[in-house]
Amino acid sequence: RGMLFLLQDVTEIRRLETMRSQFVANVSHELKTPIAAVKGFAETLLSGGVEDKETERSFLQIIYDEGDRLNRLIGDILELSKIESKLVPLEYSPVQLKELIDSLYEVLLPVASRKSIMISNNVPEHLFIEADEDRLRQVFMNLLSNAISYTLEGGRVKVEAEIVDSGEEQEDERVRISISDTGIGIPKKDLPRIFERFYRVDKARSRSSGGTGLGLSIVKHLVDLHHGMIAVESRVGEGTTFFIELPITQNLA
Ligand code: ADP
Repeated sequence: RGMLFLLQDVTEIRRLETMRSQFVANVSHELKTPIAAVKGFAETLLSGGVEDKETERSFLQIIYDEGDRLNRLIGDILELSKIESKLVPLEYSPVQLKELIDSLYEVLLPVASRKSIMISNNVPEHLFIEADEDRLRQVFMNLLSNAISYTLEGGRVKVEAEIVDSGEEQEDERVRISISDTGIGIPKKDLPRIFERFYRVDKARSRSSGGTGLGLSIVKHLVDLHHGMIAVESRVGEGTTFFIELPITQNLA
């Protein structure tokens, strides 16, 4: 028996090592692209090859944007590794869900209005859940900014929540929150993979919307840490809904 456990441990360690080296390879690849752009455009400017002011400006803008992208990428990578190593324990407090969503909408309103996307918050006032407020904010920020990014002009984004009856066996009450959009949707074949790090359905679109490909993987980890579940339903051309189920109190979870 002891031997068996040992063999399983070795397999598990191998699996983790493979995952880690894949992650390092992915990270290097993701960092190389913006760095190459920064270097390339800076070199051209330095060589004095650019004559007109307008081209010069557009090159500088690219350098600035790629720098910004590197910054977000590194921020997300650090965040993910912090969450995964469980170095930062969650700090639970009662969070009023509706208020949390409202505060995010305040930040997202300018982006949504620019695309004439209507955002609505139908979360009942009385819903409080025990959660790490900053982490929960991160979860909804990632999902809502995706919803807005991947929805075309004139679309809609809404958040709803209700208490779910968890049946007889579980004593703990849970809330089910849905974040839905009328956006471009996700093809069926991609659905099982979207929570993987760096997985994007459309690299070019994700890039132009400023995505790092890490958002959903951060969301999934944070939901897991809160003893919750996340699921997604989507239809191409019609829209996407993410469902999150979270325990209302953590002591029972
Ligand atoms: P990204 O930074 O690229 O948005 P995420 O991890 O947040 O990375 O999402 C992974 C991929 O899942 C995205 O690149 C996109 O293809 C798809 N996706 C996520 N949310 C939505 C949504 N609401 N509608 C359509 N596609 C989505």
